[in-house]
Amino acid sequence: MADVLAVTEQRDGALRKTSREVVWAARQLADAMGGTVDALVLGAPGVDAAGAQLGAVGADRVLVAEDASFARYSPDGYAATVAAVAKGGGYGTVLVAATAAGKDLAPRIAARLDAPLASDVTGIRIEGGKVTATRPVYAGRAVQQLRLDAPLAVVSVRPNTFVPGSAAKSGAVGKVAAFPAARVVVREVKAAEQGRLDVAEASVVVSGGRGLKGPEHFALIENLAKAFGAAVGASRAVVDAGWRPHAEQVGQTGKTVSPQLYVAVGISGAIQHLAGMRTAKVIVAINKDKDAPIFQVADYGIVGDLFEIVPRLTEEVAKAKAG
Ligand SMILES: Cc1cc2nc3c(=O)[nH]c(=O)nc-3n(C[C@H](O)[C@H](O)[C@H](O)COP(=O)(O)OP(=O)(O)OC[C@H]3O[C@@H](n4cnc5c(N)ncnc54)[C@H](O)[C@@H]3O)c2cc1C
Repeated sequence: MADVLAVTEQRDGALRKTSREVVWAARQLADAMGGTVDALVLGAPGVDAAGAQLGAVGADRVLVAEDASFARYSPDGYAATVAAVAKGGGYGTVLVAATAAGKDLAPRIAARLDAPLASDVTGIRIEGGKVTATRPVYAGRAVQQLRLDAPLAVVSVRPNTFVPGSAAKSGAVGKVAAFPAARVVVREVKAAEQGRLDVAEASVVVSGGRGLKGPEHFALIENLAKAFGAAVGASRAVVDAGWRPHAEQVGQTGKTVSPQLYVAVGISGAIQHLAGMRTAKVIVAINKDKDAPIFQVADYGIVGDLFEIVPRLTEEVAKAKAG
């Protein structure tokens, strides 16, 4: 029961960044219990090539389930396949990334396995021989500790929380049976604009709020994001106003982000916004109101007019990056 199954995620045959994080988290857990890590890769035929890199982040074995219908996330098919592998492998824990697909998949796996689920966790460890997970609750105002007192548990881990190191395990690739979807088939995925970093996965996020006064001023945010190599995020106020797409919304009803650096520009810091970003490692806030609630969670606060500060900051960041 010390062995861990790490479920990876691919897009167009390439593993997503979160896959390495999940395998790394699984490695830490397995090492604490003296177990092994199997990484499961689901995809269309040929996806096994992507799995070959997972030994470097701690996979002892890479199990590949191939089916043409697995090119895209397939709710029923993925859940049936993961559950079958989990049942047959004698694992104690199944780890999934808490991405959009992972948030859909994890409860399906838990239901099929009749196993407890800890979702969107930011920490995981062994306590008294049991897997113990840490997760923010009540919009990030409290932290919950969950002890998973069952022979098999499912845990989804928040993207960007487990930064992969190097583990140099063999990562030998082998095939397992795929159970393609019988009922639900994903026919089309409408991708967001090409080349844009996903706010939920980026390690630096620059977000703009109503303080920008209008959609035309978001160029300031985009330029700063470009200088950092960051993703652009937004508050709900500006998404509701139609200034930005919902895919960029950070917060309780948007995406949860946990980047190394979060820059909040012209965002007041309402509790629903904080729910989506307060686990960022470093928070920088730029706001003209010194009493704005965002400053209560910020590591660095700049009180002033964003229209003056952001262009100067952009210039300095670009200079620092170039030099
Ligand atoms: C059920 C529910 C769910 C919600 N979910 C979310 C969510 O997921 N995400 C989210 O973001 N919100 C969410 N909200 C909305 C949330 O309560 C706030 O209304 C919203 O976050 C405010 O957005 P804002 O900070 O951009 O705007 P405001 O609150 O209007 O703040 C604008 C800020 O800009 C500053 N400012 C103005 N001009 C300048 C300037 N020139 N220079 C510098 N600073 C300036 C102001 O001082 C102010 O602090 C939710 C609300 C509810 C009820």
